[in-house]
Amino acid sequence: MSRRLHAGAVIPRGLVIDHVEVGAVLTITARPVAASARCPGCDRTSSRIHSHYTRTLSDLPVAGRRVALDIRVRRFRCIGSDCRTKIFAERLGSDLAAHARRTARLDCIVHHLGVALGGRPAASFARRLMVPASRDTTLRTVRRRAVRWSIRA
Ligand SMILES: [Zn+2]
Repeated sequence: MSRRLHAGAVIPRGLVIDHVEVGAVLTITARPVAASARCPGCDRTSSRIHSHYTRTLSDLPVAGRRVALDIRVRRFRCIGSDCRTKIFAERLGSDLAAHARRTARLDCIVHHLGVALGGRPAASFARRLMVPASRDTTLRTVRRRAVRWSIRA
């Protein structure tokens, strides 16, 4: 077993770190390494970049600090002339679900706190763990995952 700490252990797979700022919040600026992305409409691969935007997600705390991931996400133009999707944003993998404000691993922690302790106690314990999750966030996470599981069953 390797004892080296690689970037994949710190940030989700498929990203490369550009900058780290240490303050009250540890802000990691990163970007995807892939040169292209698949269009969700037609599944063709495109490397024609249209524009960029920054997505900010919370991640697990490090050394007593909250962690924010600032990810420079690209929008691509679809190369298919028959595709109805002209412009699409690249997907960042299962660790960084579309529209999520937290990484999957942080969402999992919030869910378990919510299930084990309930809304207000979970939020209180989360604050001590430097996990950004209010009472409402904890309850929403538990409900969202319960709905997902009931749909699968
Ligand atoms: Zn397309």
